[in-house]
Amino acid sequence: MLVIGTGISGLSYAIKLSQKSPSTKITLICKEDLMEGNTRYAQGGIAVVSNFKKDSFKKHIQDTYIAGDCQGDLEVINFVVKEGNDRVSELIQWGTAFDTKKRNELDLVKEGGHSEKRIVHYKDHSGSEIQRALINHIKSIDSIQYFENHILVDLITDHHTKTNHQKCYGAYIISTIDQEIITITSKLTVLSTGGVGQLYEFTTNPKVATGDGLGAAYRAKVRIKGLPYIQFHPTALRSKVNGETFLITEALRGSGGHLKNQNGERFMLNYDKRGELAPRDIVSRAIAKEMLSQNENHVFLDATNIDSEEFLTHFPMIHDTCMSIGINPLKQMIPVVPAAHYSCGGITVDSKGESSLKGLFAIGECSYTGLHGANRLASNSLLESIVFAHRAALFSVQELSESKIKESFYLQIPEWDGQEYSSNQKLEKTNQLCQKLQKVMSKKVGIFKTNMGLYEASEEMKNLYQETLELYQQNKLTPKLCELRNMVSVAYLLINQAQQIKENKGVFYNNDYV
Ligand SMILES: Cc1cc2nc3c(=O)[nH]c(=O)nc-3n(C[C@H](O)[C@H](O)[C@H](O)COP(=O)(O)OP(=O)(O)OC[C@H]3O[C@@H](n4cnc5c(N)ncnc54)[C@H](O)[C@@H]3O)c2cc1C
Repeated sequence: MLVIGTGISGLSYAIKLSQKSPSTKITLICKEDLMEGNTRYAQGGIAVVSNFKKDSFKKHIQDTYIAGDCQGDLEVINFVVKEGNDRVSELIQWGTAFDTKKRNELDLVKEGGHSEKRIVHYKDHSGSEIQRALINHIKSIDSIQYFENHILVDLITDHHTKTNHQKCYGAYIISTIDQEIITITSKLTVLSTGGVGQLYEFTTNPKVATGDGLGAAYRAKVRIKGLPYIQFHPTALRSKVNGETFLITEALRGSGGHLKNQNGERFMLNYDKRGELAPRDIVSRAIAKEMLSQNENHVFLDATNIDSEEFLTHFPMIHDTCMSIGINPLKQMIPVVPAAHYSCGGITVDSKGESSLKGLFAIGECSYTGLHGANRLASNSLLESIVFAHRAALFSVQELSESKIKESFYLQIPEWDGQEYSSNQKLEKTNQLCQKLQKVMSKKVGIFKTNMGLYEASEEMKNLYQETLELYQQNKLTPKLCELRNMVSVAYLLINQAQQIKENKGVFYNNDYV
């Protein structure tokens, strides 16, 4: 078994499969270290109905459906919501420490779009606690081995084996240490490669979120759906810190921070009566509109009205980070921009997590299950990951026992057929193309889209594809080039899908359809 990606989805899948089928050898690979990925940055937590005195499945199902602008698949929403509680209990059994109240009851909080308190959390860094616990757990399981600093290059399909089973047989993987390409064959392959935030200039996602699983799936002709439904987080610091976008939590607005334009005017009440606390997509669109109308590249978050002591107690990291770039948030307004945050679309899977290619599963943020529809309800993504990891693992046990392809077939799978060019990879050029892509996506395929903008973006992406292809054909394959190749493919597909959407729903907004 090969699992590509070690966030909450990949790790919980591996643990579950090892429990159900202890003799199955499981290989996990990840791009950097085991910890890095979107999961570790999740702050809020997991939405789950556990207080049945006040909450109900019906309410959570309704909240999810409404948040998704009534585009979600009700059957999927139904089972995800109902199975959540058992999956959270398993995370606890596997060592995750969620905050509790008296009598060991889970401490539940409320987030935007939820009609009840139902977010299970660990302080304000739930993701890193879950990730820590799962990593600890997999290290104690003998049947699981893992390779850090290894990157998926391509899925192995009939194209490579010159057969016609219409199946996935594993993957070619490149090591970021020695840049060697290895072949890992597998009866079943799982993509759990996370998000696509790096397609944009500003994103809350870490560097590893370049949509590699989607890129590889696209080349393998696997069905992909809903890519243009990208959720933006309204407020990230305009200046990057050590090359990374820094998120300014909604809680700062919840504590009284106001959004102001370049004239120092508070503007959110012109867009929504809930002001700064309107849903994320509304706040992001209002900010983008103010930026456009004033031809500026940011607005301000004014938190100077918050008591200094309260600020320092609740937001020490925001304070220190702003200070490190010369802004004192107790006295000065913070320049902010919206940032790409969550991909609602992905590889289309069925209720067991299997994609349109037999033997290939997709779980977590890289998948499209139908849960989110046109917008994700806060804290529903970790929930989706654990429910689908469980379902995919159970189905994998059945698939492994029914597998008809002989072991000897896997031994004949060819090695990676790359040309042995000298290592003259132009890293600078690869970086330039990456930045160009991010600029096009942010400007023309961001919060606001137009038909003309999408057309121009599509033409520019064709040029970028050509330039990337030339680099690919003339140079030795490197991890950075793999990423660029995926980013161009995913961006192109996203634009293409956006051109086919003729109605604004959820986070998708085309000015020509208002
Ligand atoms: C700042 C932030 C806050 C969030 N807060 C919440 C929240 O409170 N609640 C909630 O439900 N959701 C939240 N989310 C969303 C949620 O964190 C993610 O959707 C979820 O963690 C995704 O998990 P995953 O397992 O699919 O992928 P990830 O955790 O992103 O893991 C991806 C894995 O794939 C690996 N990988 C990627 N490409 C390759 C490749 N080519 N080869 C090998 N490995 C590869 C990476 O190394 C990594 O191990 C938040 C996201 C962010 C960014």
